[in-house]
Amino acid sequence: MTLPSDIDWVMFLLLVIAIACGWMLGRFQGGRSAALRMRRDTLPSIDFLLAENNDGALDRLLDVTEISDEAVELYLNLGRIFRDKGQTEKSIQLHQNLFSRTDLSDKAQLDVELELATDFLRAGLLDRAERLLIDLIEEEGHTYNQASRLLVQLYEEEQEWQSILELHKKSKLQDLPEITHRVAQAACEYANELFKKGDYLDSHQYLKLALRINPLCARANILFAQVASNQGEPKEAIRCYLKALKQDSNAMLAVLPDMMKCFIKIDDYKGLDKQLESHWQSNHAVEVLVARVKLLAQQGRQQYGIEVLLTELFQHPSNQGFFALVEMVVNEKAVLNSSQLMSVYDILRRIVETEYKYVCRSCGFKATEHYWRCPSCKDWASISAAH
Ligand SMILES: [Zn+2]
Repeated sequence: MTLPSDIDWVMFLLLVIAIACGWMLGRFQGGRSAALRMRRDTLPSIDFLLAENNDGALDRLLDVTEISDEAVELYLNLGRIFRDKGQTEKSIQLHQNLFSRTDLSDKAQLDVELELATDFLRAGLLDRAERLLIDLIEEEGHTYNQASRLLVQLYEEEQEWQSILELHKKSKLQDLPEITHRVAQAACEYANELFKKGDYLDSHQYLKLALRINPLCARANILFAQVASNQGEPKEAIRCYLKALKQDSNAMLAVLPDMMKCFIKIDDYKGLDKQLESHWQSNHAVEVLVARVKLLAQQGRQQYGIEVLLTELFQHPSNQGFFALVEMVVNEKAVLNSSQLMSVYDILRRIVETEYKYVCRSCGFKATEHYWRCPSCKDWASISAAH
């Protein structure tokens, strides 16, 4: 074999280097996948991570060259636990660490961003939460629904009703019944602000918008009624109040005082009495019965009012109703006959019968009979007389 020339030497050396590099690369990759396998196989448990609960341990955990979706899921769970315990600084640290990585899958990236936004919300860092949530909504990925919910919630807490309406206008929010219901409420809130400033015209526009978004929004009709009532249009106000009550009979207690004023303004006592009676019959809200009876007394029909109270309270006994009855008898100096007194006695007896006589000292459980062992907290001999 002849000695290689200079050029051959160079070629020979390059060949040796190339082979060495190939061998090392193979070895390195083999080692890396083995390490990865090992990390997957030995992914630590949440309990272990919580036990290792210090900042250094958290940083070391994330100080890995590659991170699997499975590991991301584990860290997200850990972050949620920190957050639920009120340790938002820790969950932010964990999620920010993850978020700054460039090797996460698209799905994991969105998951981490949502968790971080939730951390910021919880910690009151609303500007930062807002930025991430708007970004997630723009992405329209699998976190879109939850991001829509959280962003609306953020604006609700800040009372930024216009921001919610702006998102809706740009069709940025998910079209879910739960979200549209809240957008309609935001329109009502904003309309109410305008109404209070005396801007009736714009207020109307936003109430119409609320009803377009959610035709079942009783509150929009109640606000329409309040605007009308304020503008000296009691008939229109009554029309809107009744429309709202048809949509949601629970709204009665909120609208009762103003609705009564509107009926009285147009001298329609008969119409009001009819509304109050039918509402009492279908909902049995005792405030409505009491309002009706007081109205009868105002019209000089005290005796009839007392009769109505006695009959209705006998069917549906209540403390508040009984108090109204006694008040009426005292105020009107009414004299009850013996059968009316018998009814009063019966009503009171039935109220007392439904009262709780016993209470658990350990958990506050209320009972109508005595137990040696509390049915709620299972404590022994903890039941005593209620006062
Ligand atoms: Zn108990």
